[in-house]
Amino acid sequence: MKTKNAIILPLFTTALVVILSLLSTNLWMEKKEEVTASHSIKISTEMTLQEISTTNGIPFKVIVQALNKPDLDPLKSLTVQGFSFLYAREEILKNFAVYQENETKNWFKIPLKFILWFIFMSIVFYQLIKQGLSPKKRKIYYAISVLVFGVILGSDPSPMGTVKDAIALYGEKGVIFPPRMIALCIFLLTVFLANKMICAWGCQFGSLQDLLFRFNRNSKDTMGVIKQYKIPFIVSNSIRLIFFVAFIAISFIWSIDIIAEIDPFKIFRPQFLTAAGIVFLILLFLASIVVYRPWCYLFCPFGLIGWIVEKMSRYKIKVNYEKCIACLACEKACPSDVMSAILRQDRVIPDCFSCGVCTEICPEKAISFSKEKREKPSVAKFNKQ
Ligand code: SF4
Ligand code: SF4
Repeated sequence: MKTKNAIILPLFTTALVVILSLLSTNLWMEKKEEVTASHSIKISTEMTLQEISTTNGIPFKVIVQALNKPDLDPLKSLTVQGFSFLYAREEILKNFAVYQENETKNWFKIPLKFILWFIFMSIVFYQLIKQGLSPKKRKIYYAISVLVFGVILGSDPSPMGTVKDAIALYGEKGVIFPPRMIALCIFLLTVFLANKMICAWGCQFGSLQDLLFRFNRNSKDTMGVIKQYKIPFIVSNSIRLIFFVAFIAISFIWSIDIIAEIDPFKIFRPQFLTAAGIVFLILLFLASIVVYRPWCYLFCPFGLIGWIVEKMSRYKIKVNYEKCIACLACEKACPSDVMSAILRQDRVIPDCFSCGVCTEICPEKAISFSKEKREKPSVAKFNKQ
């Protein structure tokens, strides 16, 4: 029965997320978040500004703003009005890209989402420091995160999207969308304050993977009902790094966003999924049952940046070695390699997704989610293990 649940619950949850997200995106009347590719915008020396505007759907005010000249004549061309063609074209493309970004955002939903994120993460943070989480509560919180920040409030913004879209937009158009940079700074601030807090509990797709993984755990949340595997961090992080470098290089050299086709956050706007995206999502979901957060550890650009920033996090998992009896219960229960590294204070510590399992499972209550600095264990402590 438990084995059946470990498969059926993830399948049921995934189907439910897709169906509810379809309804939700229709209710919000979501627009496709896409900036017109530069090569499909037609601007020539002969075209009047009026023609440039109507042919490409560029509002005239955007052209005025781009060229910074309020008394433009819409019936004359760029060169006749004294502009260097290449410079003017570039400026129009950049301003149009920012305009489109702005137009496709839901400016009611985004601030609301940040307010709810703040409230929700504060509640979970409190539970973490008070050690008030339990396997059941953990699943409920992940489910709330998926429902509120994914299904109801959609895929945008997301921590992953802020990094991906910023790089893709700059790579293709050479522009920065300021609200996105503000969102990225807020996300990184949460990572800085409490170890990967936004990834751990706020990210809609991270929470969904976590929930699927937890469905396949025993009642104490310490091991898989169907066997679960820990990918060595050297392997997962190398793949993530190579993927990140390839993504940046391809964005800058060929202006292609390679993540767009397989973006798993599109599960929260399923009508925009491509065939490749559907196949990739199915593989990710199957993997999520037996491997902890495969997208986060193997591919996510924010996951990589967050991993670097979490080295400076104020609140994090900490071991009190005076109380620790080296039973390794925490290491076994941790869904990834991270507790093993924290316990021994290895040089490289993988991403910790602040799930709190280790704090619950320790028989000596030697692990806390706290502000103090991590200490090093004595050399003899884990010698035999
Ligand atoms: S690492 Fe995971 S949780 Fe963090 S932004 Fe990426 S998908 Fe979300
Ligand atoms: S060390 Fe492992 S078990 Fe502990 S909070 Fe981090 S991810 Fe969870």
